[in-house]
Amino acid sequence: MLELFLKKPNEMELRDVETLRTPVGDEVKIKVMYGGICGSDLSVFQGKLNHAKYPLRPGHELVGVVIEAGSSAAYQVGTRVVILPNTYCGKCVPCRRGETNICEKKESLGVTVDGGFSQEFLISSRYVMDIPDDLPDERAVIIEPFAVVVHAFKKVNITKETSVCVVGCGNEGMLAAALAYHLGGRVTAIDINPNKLEFISKVGEIRAVLPEDLDNETFDVVFEAAGTKSSVEQAVHLVRPGGALVVIGLAKEANLPVAHVVRNELTLYGTIIYNFPADYRETIEYLRDPTFNGASIVSKILPFTKYKEAFESALSGDFGKIVLDFNNIEIADGGQEESTAKK
Ligand SMILES: [Zn+2]
Ligand SMILES: [Zn+2]
Repeated sequence: MLELFLKKPNEMELRDVETLRTPVGDEVKIKVMYGGICGSDLSVFQGKLNHAKYPLRPGHELVGVVIEAGSSAAYQVGTRVVILPNTYCGKCVPCRRGETNICEKKESLGVTVDGGFSQEFLISSRYVMDIPDDLPDERAVIIEPFAVVVHAFKKVNITKETSVCVVGCGNEGMLAAALAYHLGGRVTAIDINPNKLEFISKVGEIRAVLPEDLDNETFDVVFEAAGTKSSVEQAVHLVRPGGALVVIGLAKEANLPVAHVVRNELTLYGTIIYNFPADYRETIEYLRDPTFNGASIVSKILPFTKYKEAFESALSGDFGKIVLDFNNIEIADGGQEESTAKK
């Protein structure tokens, strides 16, 4: 079986490892179909995420099919599934409130424990959800990153009257703009990269501008999805008096103009990943809706053997989401192509 392996930051290789053991108990063996490359995969690759552990198999945005099931597994062989890449204990105080996203014992696949950029992997079926038949794999691979946005939107109420600004048009920012537009909001998206602004126009009638092109405007709701100090500091000043700032990006720190926040009664929300299974279910419903255009943020699907090109493209910042296809093996040096049948 082939897998991607990160010995240490910036040293990734494709390697052949032994076939996996048979799943036991509630475990399932998954044959991976697609794996999306996330901003956090890039941070892990570059050694920029402090809590990442090496050596590591990266990858957490995964869809696949169950090919073997333990005796008490929740899903049968043949079920198409999406992975929940953040574990939860089910016992701590947040877990008992249904807030699995802030579980005190959370582990993150592809960050603190091995992920799933491999042809197959084993996982407890409690971290697996089935994908409805009418949702193709190409769209389902967005479930995990989109669930982050669906969860963030729980903090605010977006209607036809709402003016929304999204700061940063990476994958999460683009999905936030797509969802705000889908819900009827008047959406402005800003990014420092003109290529990103071009992409955003594909998901709906969204005004896409460079940060400097905003003319002292303010918005009911601002989503911060760039995750840098300066973007957070700008985002605070884009909120209208009485409005809300929802911070999705993970800037380490930023200067907060407290008097400005207080005098204008701004509300600040932090939001992290999603609650399982509720946010996943809701996300799947959005993706089943043909009028929702968020899946068009996928700009490239590459065979996973071309992981170098895929990571380079993702790191360039010039594309939407890059997805690895684990069902398609293209041997780079020999030039031969071996492609297993795709469904
Ligand atoms: Zn991710
Ligand atoms: Zn817990």
